[in-house]
Amino acid sequence: MPGEVHVIEHPLVQHKLSLMRMKSTSTSAFRNLLSELSLLLAYEVTRDMPTHQVTIDTPLTRTSVPVLDGKKIVIISIMRAGAGILDGMLRLLPSARVGHVGLYRDPKTLVAVEYYFKVPKVMTDRDAIVVDPMLATGNSAVAAVGRLKETHPRSIKFVCLLTCPEGLETFHAQHPDVPVYTAAVDSHLNDHGYIVPGLGDAGDRLFGTK
Ligand code: URA
Repeated sequence: MPGEVHVIEHPLVQHKLSLMRMKSTSTSAFRNLLSELSLLLAYEVTRDMPTHQVTIDTPLTRTSVPVLDGKKIVIISIMRAGAGILDGMLRLLPSARVGHVGLYRDPKTLVAVEYYFKVPKVMTDRDAIVVDPMLATGNSAVAAVGRLKETHPRSIKFVCLLTCPEGLETFHAQHPDVPVYTAAVDSHLNDHGYIVPGLGDAGDRLFGTK
């Protein structure tokens, strides 16, 4: 595969993901688990984020300490299920800015069509973290990142909960420069575009719309 894929194999991540996969898991439990998992994914995806030194006074002395360039991070949520990851990430990165991308799939052409795009005005000095729980066919991720690239962020990373070989291949064929962070790479995509074994429709499970 041409692009970087980081699978977060931490036992806490795997345990929470297993609970989310169970069809007996309630909407509220699913939402809480996704929020908790997002904290852990945020921890991993910010591992190499740039820091700068600031001078502070501890109770004992003046010293120089590193702080994250938090204001330079922008989290881009792909509507609507991205909202489930966004909440958790903002708890860890409270000064991050937020952008939203809305796409729907044209039923005739199956092409991803944009209906909403709102990101901070100046993106050139920002590190973008694009979030969507499921990287399935890869079509919306490809379109969202393609559109985001038009705003020229300093860097782009893609964070999801689950993906599959088909989705990764499609995504990295178009965006080999964008690393993907995920809790698991599942077996395959079925004929309806669902990840198998997966967890079902992330948006429906998150918002209780089914
Ligand atoms: N979107 C989902 O919510 N679930 C899948 O399995 C695939 C796409």
